[in-house]
Amino acid sequence: MTQTVETTCPYCGVGCGVLATVDADINAGGKVSISGNPQHPANLGRLCSKGSALGETVDLDGRLLHPEIHGERASWDEALDHVAHGFKQVIEQHGPDAVAFYVSGQLLTEDYYVANKLIKGYIGTANIDTNSRLCMSSSVVGHKRAFGADTVPCSYEDLERAKLIVLVGSNTAWCHPVLYQRIVQAKKDNPDLLIAVIDPRQTATCDLADIHLPIRSGSDATLFNGLLAYLAHDGEINQAYVAQYVEGFEQALSAAQDSSGDLDDVALRCGIELDTLKNFYRLFARTERVITVYSQGINQSSSGSDKVNAIINCHLATGRIGRPGMGPFSFTGQPNAMGGREVGGLANMLAAHMDIENADHRQLVQTFWDSPTLADKPGRKAVDMFNAIADGKIKALWVMATNPVVSMPDADAIKAALKQCELVVVSDCIRNTDTAQLAHVKLPATGWAEKDGTVTNSERRISRQRAFLPAAGEAKGDWWIICQVAKRMGYNGFDYQHPFEIFNEHAALSAYENEGQRDFNIGALGKRDLASYNALQPIQWPVTPERPNGSARMFSDGRYFTPSQKARMLAITPRTPVNAPNNDFPLILNSGRIRDQWHTMTRTGKAARLSEHSPEPYIAIHPEDAARFRIREDQLVSVFSRWGEMIGRARFDQGLRRGDVFAPMHWNEQFASCGRVGAVVNPETDPYSGQPELKHTPVRIAPFDSAWHGFILSRRKLHLHGIRYWARATGNGFYRYELAGDQKENDLPAWVRSYLCSSDNDVKWVELLDKGAHTYRGVRMTGARLESCIFIAPDHALPPRNWLASLFEKEALTQDEKRALLTGKPPAGEIDTGRIVCACFNVGENTILDAIDKHGLKTADEIGKCLNAGTNCGSCVPELKALLQR
Ligand code: SF4
Repeated sequence: MTQTVETTCPYCGVGCGVLATVDADINAGGKVSISGNPQHPANLGRLCSKGSALGETVDLDGRLLHPEIHGERASWDEALDHVAHGFKQVIEQHGPDAVAFYVSGQLLTEDYYVANKLIKGYIGTANIDTNSRLCMSSSVVGHKRAFGADTVPCSYEDLERAKLIVLVGSNTAWCHPVLYQRIVQAKKDNPDLLIAVIDPRQTATCDLADIHLPIRSGSDATLFNGLLAYLAHDGEINQAYVAQYVEGFEQALSAAQDSSGDLDDVALRCGIELDTLKNFYRLFARTERVITVYSQGINQSSSGSDKVNAIINCHLATGRIGRPGMGPFSFTGQPNAMGGREVGGLANMLAAHMDIENADHRQLVQTFWDSPTLADKPGRKAVDMFNAIADGKIKALWVMATNPVVSMPDADAIKAALKQCELVVVSDCIRNTDTAQLAHVKLPATGWAEKDGTVTNSERRISRQRAFLPAAGEAKGDWWIICQVAKRMGYNGFDYQHPFEIFNEHAALSAYENEGQRDFNIGALGKRDLASYNALQPIQWPVTPERPNGSARMFSDGRYFTPSQKARMLAITPRTPVNAPNNDFPLILNSGRIRDQWHTMTRTGKAARLSEHSPEPYIAIHPEDAARFRIREDQLVSVFSRWGEMIGRARFDQGLRRGDVFAPMHWNEQFASCGRVGAVVNPETDPYSGQPELKHTPVRIAPFDSAWHGFILSRRKLHLHGIRYWARATGNGFYRYELAGDQKENDLPAWVRSYLCSSDNDVKWVELLDKGAHTYRGVRMTGARLESCIFIAPDHALPPRNWLASLFEKEALTQDEKRALLTGKPPAGEIDTGRIVCACFNVGENTILDAIDKHGLKTADEIGKCLNAGTNCGSCVPELKALLQR
């Protein structure tokens, strides 16, 4: 029976509503189709390429289906007892601070709530931190310092009501694509809307920019301090607002004036043209309805908290906050980073936005929980937590729904720390992640399609995530696993039968002794039964008896959550990044997301259409820097830092500043032999937020010294041990492997067979070997069906992959196609569609160029009308425009 369920996308902090339709029993070949929910206020029916491909990621391939202890299958009872006993033993011998939880913005709020309750309220340590530490903890500090609480003031609808949108450190087009599309639409509807992009890179987001400030990496606080000084100089301070609602103005202004100098100085230090700076300052000064969106480019810095406050200062000084179309707006990276903040999932927070260092708050939470103890000091933040594991101070770690061996900075040190940790527990829905491979105990958690609970997006909107598939194998909800371990450790207070009971408790705690002095209050959402929990519609907190329909905007009354109820401006002295480039490491590595992948690719890596845009780890480099380091386009290169090495394909990018390189954060050892950018990234952190400096690592770059190159397309997944460089991507009906080795093989046919298996009886090999030139081309066929093909050459001048890839969709090749196989080129009359540009509609570069040529297309809209390309998520529109120019 076909059923459609309203749920929420599990990827980014936009929090799009999704309609998931299952057309039949999934175990009997049923399919899941996905569309955007037109009723959901976050996306109004839109989805990006990742969200659209969700249906392709819910199969059981790679899933962890039952508990394991030391790699052996175990029952739930055995595994839960093992974990509970292991944690108890460490606590008894070494105290509660010897254990830790490392959790995730992928957890639902209910999961997060019980994890935090267990460790802080029962075990008695605050050693719980989340991968959201890597994403937005600097914003939390900025909010708390300025507003007295971790409050996001704005709503997405403010994007449509603004006159100027400033996007700082945010490649919105790729990282928050549906919000980018809302901005595109807003600009179409209101041509007066202006967009300023502040980013060292000229990203896809700049396609929409009226003004782009390609500032020097790390100079954001200088830019916004300079803006504050400019606003004061030009009489643009809202004196009445400042007098009534703000404290710290004089000190903040004085620090800004002292540190920024004149406009020439600011432009020089930011590395931009004076005119560009002046234009931006004028624009900001003269526009009342201005919204400043910031994201990881601000947060992921050793001075991220100060950068956040430098931005907020400008809004407070102008009174541009708490009204429609204005305010500082942090876009969160993960789907439930905000929910994690609500329950206190960070080591320095307490539940319901309370402070662990506030004795009254501790008393309140402990009384409400009726718990035996409560952690009385902050726990270890992420980088510190893994250092403590390496030092042997933390001896038992439970990792929930995240992959720190890939995502943490200095990731090889994280791997080494976990290898020598006494007890590593991983609960995850995927069996083999880089982190799960180091676990003593693996606990199978439900995946996105099976989970039931709530999440909160960047605009404080709580939405239901509803299960639409049965749990895979023996998988269980994270909340259930945590509560079972808690009970086996002997703790009361975890006797929940369903997530709605946890949600009710979470809501009740938020309202407990809260007379408006705490921002987070969803008391009016509580006291739900299962039916009303299931029916819960998206709503923005706070939700109180006075505001039963939620709150679109905060601080409209000028009342903040500080003791004086005034907002605080902070005196900011800009700091340069701790690790500066030098002779050994002359370039600055910036790391981040790409358009079609999510985190460590455990889900998006399964979808063929998401793999085609970037099938390998890559290093973007300015062509002039490439020439300086003798690097050719598409060549494999090694990137080295003091901390480690990665290998990726060189991509030339004119949009980078000279001296900067960029590498995606997603690749890991399941998808590439040496593609983890985390291994290279420096572990320096912000002193207030503990957020690592993921966007500024001194590196050097050099051609990868390879003796040969090659690729394999294979219907079967292969184990390519012993090959120095390999990267796997998922195709339609096949896997694509890009290869390179540092040693030539003497007997190429035998070596190829060792990977592609020569023992299948009905498989026929066709081969072409030139031993002297060290080239080899081979195909394996079953009748007229292509099983695999492999091409090896001394350099990377190999045939394009797209036409060969398309043959895996056919059950039988024609004679012409068979004859053409070893050339790697289509026979006359067949088209190679080329590299995929539009992932939503699977449209290739050659198809687009052909259509431009044939039909005389002149705009991206015309390409859309002709081929559909760019008409769904719109993320490829900048690439369509580049193809039009070509
Ligand atoms: Fe998911 Fe894309 Fe929406 Fe983010 S923008 S929530 S990834 S559909």
